[in-house]
Amino acid sequence: MKKISLIMLVLVSAAQVFAQGYKTANVVIVTLDGLRWQEVYRGADSTLINSKYTDDKPAVTKQYWAESFVDRRQMLFPFIWSTMVRKGQLYGNRDAGSKDEVANRYYFSYPGYSELFTGYADPRMNTNNAIANPNINVLEFLNKQKGFEDKVAVFSSWERFTQIFNTKRSGLLVNAGYMDLNVPAMNDRLKMLNAMQQQAPHYLGDSTRIDFLTYELAKEYLIQYKPRVLYIAFDETDEFAHAGNYKFYLDRAHQEDAFIKELWDEIQGNPTYKDKTTLIVTCDHGRGDVNAVSWRNHGMLIAPHSEQTWIAVMGPDTPAAGEMGPGDVTYHKQLAQTISKLLGYDFKAAAGHDVADPIKTMARAQQEVVSR
Ligand SMILES: [Zn+2]
Repeated sequence: MKKISLIMLVLVSAAQVFAQGYKTANVVIVTLDGLRWQEVYRGADSTLINSKYTDDKPAVTKQYWAESFVDRRQMLFPFIWSTMVRKGQLYGNRDAGSKDEVANRYYFSYPGYSELFTGYADPRMNTNNAIANPNINVLEFLNKQKGFEDKVAVFSSWERFTQIFNTKRSGLLVNAGYMDLNVPAMNDRLKMLNAMQQQAPHYLGDSTRIDFLTYELAKEYLIQYKPRVLYIAFDETDEFAHAGNYKFYLDRAHQEDAFIKELWDEIQGNPTYKDKTTLIVTCDHGRGDVNAVSWRNHGMLIAPHSEQTWIAVMGPDTPAAGEMGPGDVTYHKQLAQTISKLLGYDFKAAAGHDVADPIKTMARAQQEVVSR
């Protein structure tokens, strides 16, 4: 008996040594659907501003245009280009030699999100239809770890996340589309947001909630319930690109940057999260860039280069390297194990399917892990 306890003690302390290597106690992930790296790194595109896809050219020029790409991207994404670039890392600026991509071959949403959270570009995940994801995802894995039970939450504009995260199997809290939030002891503000979203016009159809409602619900949930892992999935950038409305595409991207700033201010103003939370901002796929038309679309055949993506990250374990330069191509399938590693767990060992290795440069342990 004594021997067994001793072995258990060694196992427990070994796991803790691993966990103690990182300061990250919480992770917040935000995705902007189909937002191109071209806008993140170059700012607004003059070809598109001067095309039929921009109605109010003077207003868009005034708000988002400057001669220098450094000024332009700062105008479009002030939070990314002030705080995140200074404190974190930005991947995927091909102009600077940094290449970030999805590893799946389809370049649309379900395969993209599935890759990101399962760590696996499963070729079977090749549709946006409502099929239950057969693969375990890192959020479901974390939700089963001690101290994380019911401390993992997903808020998405698109209703499909119910299937992407296979809530029937995973039991994850996924508030998707115009679904009412239904958790115990909701405060009045959450109840009001539930009522409000039922009254809001469904401009994006019944399957996709307007992003600001997704954001408000997620932020209020963070404040009231303090999840260890929170994922917010925005959608409007993709919607307005498909609609061929460049002004709205830019406006939504700009507003989401402001949402992320507000969220980060909340995180850093809250002792539960301050200086122990990693923030990851990314997308599910890129879009075409060969001409003004191809910007509207994405996909293997119709929009070359839509596998090209970007990631912004900052947190206590991410060295402040700013814009990344030439190096290994990073893939979105690497983020699942990166998230897991930052929190001190090994998702890859437990997933039961292929899981890509973490992005090494993104997570540096505070002290070398001593093997015993
Ligand atoms: Zn799309």
